[in-house]
Amino acid sequence: MIFEREDRKTYHAGRIELGLSMEKLLSLLADGHFHSGEELGEVLGISRAAVWKKLKALEGLGLSLDSVRGKGYRLGQGIELLDQARIEAELDRALSKSIKLHTCFSTSSTNDLVKELSDGQPGNLTFCLAEHQTSGRGRRGRTWVSPFGSTISMSANWRISEGTASLEGLSLAVGLAVLKALEANGARNLELKWPNDVLWQGKKLSGILLEVHGDPTGECDVIIGIGINIKLSEEQRKGIGQPAVDLYQVCGKTVSRNAVVAQLINTLSHMLEGFSHGGFALYKDQWSEHNAFRGQEVTIETAGRKERGLNAGVNEQGGLLIETETGIKVFNGGEVSLRKS
Ligand code: ATP
Repeated sequence: MIFEREDRKTYHAGRIELGLSMEKLLSLLADGHFHSGEELGEVLGISRAAVWKKLKALEGLGLSLDSVRGKGYRLGQGIELLDQARIEAELDRALSKSIKLHTCFSTSSTNDLVKELSDGQPGNLTFCLAEHQTSGRGRRGRTWVSPFGSTISMSANWRISEGTASLEGLSLAVGLAVLKALEANGARNLELKWPNDVLWQGKKLSGILLEVHGDPTGECDVIIGIGINIKLSEEQRKGIGQPAVDLYQVCGKTVSRNAVVAQLINTLSHMLEGFSHGGFALYKDQWSEHNAFRGQEVTIETAGRKERGLNAGVNEQGGLLIETETGIKVFNGGEVSLRKS
């Protein structure tokens, strides 16, 4: 379903409307400075009581507001909102023609939204980014936590015509592209947990979810969902079911969300181009340099069965090699989970 909003732009059903005044309010508060209720009411053209109601609604997005008598309201640490023009300005010229970019305040899941917004042209890449996902997901229906303005929630739609067999190892290559984009923004000592989680000191910094729609033997859309933690509050981090970390902690300073997004789009687009010609084999060595738990005892869980062995690296198809008592076993994507024993 597509519908029109007051400003006559066309919006899609997967995009959740916060309302123009709510979006304006967020843009005003994003600077992290105090704004009085009177000032906010004037700019938004609404009463102070209506401002107060909207400020309350911000808490529903997981944002915490400081309110100080005589000063007004501010968003604790401020937020660098997504800036489409700035991201586009930082894209590689050679790529920018084949890239379509959409940003929005809120959506159920950027993976769902990008599917809806893709122009379906082979060779073109459509990217969707949201400040906030209400139902971000991981594998097997697990939840991906993406509080407003605190993460990068981005999905790309890549149309291919060679069927799913050509995608072997893609999820590992995407993990490597994410790691490289983060390194270009100052992150160090990042590792890849097979198949594609990006870890720092054993804690999860980024997760990736690949979904494929269409003809498994021919034309299909590959949806590449990427979540990266930029700056989470302690409370938000604690709400995640496993040790998690954000880029602020990894780099020891604030890193621009928009700069990371632009780098990510550039790196990922180049990688997809390379992958379409040479597959994962092109990236295997670089991936292996960052392989978390390499040579260590790990547990592999698949369909409720657990198996232990040594992590012996990956093959050219992106399969995980595990040295067991009965010899080397290869584990391929799907529903396989790796944990350190
Ligand atoms: P696997 O090893 O099988 O990939 P996983 O637990 O890492 O397992 P994913 O499907 O990749 O699973 O990701 C979902 C999981 O990631 C959630 O169950 C939660 O534990 C964790 N998670 C959710 N949100 C975040 C986040 N913002 N940062 C880090 N980790 C998160």
